[in-house]
Amino acid sequence: MSVAALTLYDRALGAYLGFAIGDALGATAEFMTAREIADTYKGGLRNIVGGGWLRLRPGHVTDDTQMALALGDALLAARGWDLRMVADSFVGWMRSRPPDIGHACRRGIRRYLVEGTLEAPLSEDNAGNGAAMRNLPVAIATLDEPELLVCCSLEQAHLTHHHPLSDAATLAFGRLTQILLLGGSIGDCRRCVSETLALHPRFRFEPWPGNTSGYVVDTLQTVLHAFFRNDSVESCIVDVVNRGGDADTAGALVGQLAGACYGVHDIPPRWLRQLDRGIAERVQRQTAALLSLPRPLPLRAPSTRSIPLPTTE
Ligand code: MN
Ligand code: MN
Repeated sequence: MSVAALTLYDRALGAYLGFAIGDALGATAEFMTAREIADTYKGGLRNIVGGGWLRLRPGHVTDDTQMALALGDALLAARGWDLRMVADSFVGWMRSRPPDIGHACRRGIRRYLVEGTLEAPLSEDNAGNGAAMRNLPVAIATLDEPELLVCCSLEQAHLTHHHPLSDAATLAFGRLTQILLLGGSIGDCRRCVSETLALHPRFRFEPWPGNTSGYVVDTLQTVLHAFFRNDSVESCIVDVVNRGGDADTAGALVGQLAGACYGVHDIPPRWLRQLDRGIAERVQRQTAALLSLPRPLPLRAPSTRSIPLPTTE
């Protein structure tokens, strides 16, 4: 199917399934090195086989997809933006005994439970991937509303992560996703990325600096480097997860961009079969429901912030 013929639904479902598949596939290699992966999987890790440090069942997903689904559930329950409902949904998720939870996410959700506050204090160790990784439902729900994308993305981010680089990466992924969902080209993405790099030179990713940790700068570099040098959902995800490190999160984010770019029909059928059926159905239902939310997305509660201006480093 030609990319030009893709509908918004093809792209949005491609993004969400690509995201979940990148998570499920990458989880096997999370915290491994590229050498260890190459030694373990002849020809590279190319199938969803589970395992990894979480001993995941094949096709199951980790915190990345689960938190995105929790965020999407809150958007749908509110039929708009209500940050407290997002926080409550994260609480419900944390209480569901998830397979894993990041340090900053746990701390932020606990702070909300104890203090009721909706914003983490600015912190040097809040530059992990947690905020950027779960923002896809916001990008879908605020399509064509760039100011709402900024406002809602940063509000959900600051529940657990409050750091300028996390903010910048969350917005960069959000904007790129929206450009692609709306049918924009790779060239449009390049122009958007140039603007981000002008504000945040440390995000430069060509040549690839070679780091794959849970630091959001490493993840953004790894994901963008792979996205711009591959031309399919499969090649993007395989490229990223075989570099190891935070492989599930980077795999999810590159799957999100590639799925939005090339559409759901470009996802290898074996991966669609290998992804847990319950997860796939939830993703599909949520994608359709997010796309049918009222536009512009109603703000159901007073916003905690005015829309910020971009800051340089
Ligand atoms: Mn994860
Ligand atoms: Mn991860």
